[in-house]
Amino acid sequence: MKAPTVISMIGDLIDARHTMNAHCRGCGRTSTVDLEALPRRLGLDFVYVRARIPFSCAVCGSKEVSITIGGGHGFSGGQGERR
Ligand SMILES: [Zn+2]
Repeated sequence: MKAPTVISMIGDLIDARHTMNAHCRGCGRTSTVDLEALPRRLGLDFVYVRARIPFSCAVCGSKEVSITIGGGHGFSGGQGERR
């Protein structure tokens, strides 16, 4: 069981070394989002859980893109690495 961790801002995701994947519902393609590049567009305190990140698919141009958060080495159960 994973401990609940409140991460709501892009800066939190980067700090926790999470990854973000964008899945296009139009063509089914999944690609990894460059989290380091997002703050330049949206700001580190962009609250991604409340807003829709304006992604569009690079392949088919669809705006029906869903975001999946994965990875994260800092919050994997409490006894992991600490900084
Ligand atoms: Zn697509």
